Amino acid sequence: MKPTISELIRPSVLRLKPYSSARDDFKGKTDGMVFIDANENPFGSGLNRYPDPRQTSLRKAIGSHKGIDPSYILLGNGSDEVLDLIVRVFCEPGSDKVVTLPPTYGMYEVIAGINDIGIVRINLDNHFQPDLKAIAEVNDERCKILFLCSPNNPSGNALSVEKVEAILKSFKGIVVIDEAYSDFSKTDSWTTRLTEYPNLIVTQTLSKAYGLAAIRLGICYADPQIIEALNRIKPPYNVNSLTQEAALLKLHNIDGVRKEVKRILEERRRLSESLKKSPIVKKIWPSDANFLLVRVDNADKRYEDLLDMKIVVRNRSNLPGCENCLRFTVGTEEENNKLLEAINKLK
Ligand SMILES: *Cc1c(COP(=O)(O)O)cnc(C)c1O
Repeated sequence: MKPTISELIRPSVLRLKPYSSARDDFKGKTDGMVFIDANENPFGSGLNRYPDPRQTSLRKAIGSHKGIDPSYILLGNGSDEVLDLIVRVFCEPGSDKVVTLPPTYGMYEVIAGINDIGIVRINLDNHFQPDLKAIAEVNDERCKILFLCSPNNPSGNALSVEKVEAILKSFKGIVVIDEAYSDFSKTDSWTTRLTEYPNLIVTQTLSKAYGLAAIRLGICYADPQIIEALNRIKPPYNVNSLTQEAALLKLHNIDGVRKEVKRILEERRRLSESLKKSPIVKKIWPSDANFLLVRVDNADKRYEDLLDMKIVVRNRSNLPGCENCLRFTVGTEEENNKLLEAINKLK
């Protein structure tokens, strides 16, 4: 038997009496009202008032864009804040653990570390897919969360649907699927499966495909019971007004996002085809994201060589399965040409 969601949530979070902000206390119509409840400066600059703590318009807009009820959505200051909230809702410091599947996004471990949560690492197999047998052997009830990243950073591949389903069925805790790169992938978002798996949380971000890394907006999709628990602990005004506005504007210009994604995908293909011809390139993995993982002859040396030619890439060669690997983000056509020219000079 799997534990229920309320059995997974930390007892202290369930007991907590959440902070009630001025904006929470008064929820009526705003027209014609005098607001002297929040100690704000009354002189209107457009930014003198606190933002909507529940981001009602933005969650509605995201919900209708994705076809998901807003009660399944929580927003954060980047998905990094969302991931931190998730860890703090479910994991008891000093005793609980999370499971990560390296090579993957480094923040899962950092967030666990900051919160004094243990880490169980189960490396992805040599196709960068989850090792189901090893995951099934994790029977420790202290393992509250398993992090999946699909498409995975830094390997670039989407995780096998069958394997993720098997994990969702068998893992007794919460399964988080980080979909920071799903807009670049042909595979469906796992948000379509939320009602089927109450222990599933999906995270997305406006930092990659939407071109808004600077505004810091992360999205969490989960069962309303989980959203309610996250809301209990989130800072009341965690998403500022400028961010909410910029995100709404972008959602009204979704065609622009689609066009940029299409161009990035065309460039990804061209970059990959051209890189293949270089003698220093040993392997390029197929990518469902906006970057390529590339094995070269000597990653440390090539990293320095490229820096000398004013090109900054990510050296991922210290991660398991990524020996001598560099990660190249797909840039503009001009940027990609510069990378290709530089690579072609290397012997
Ligand atoms: C870039 C990245 C994020 C970052 O998200 P923010 O919303 O910018 O905090 C999250 N997950 C993965 C796997 C990423 O690569």
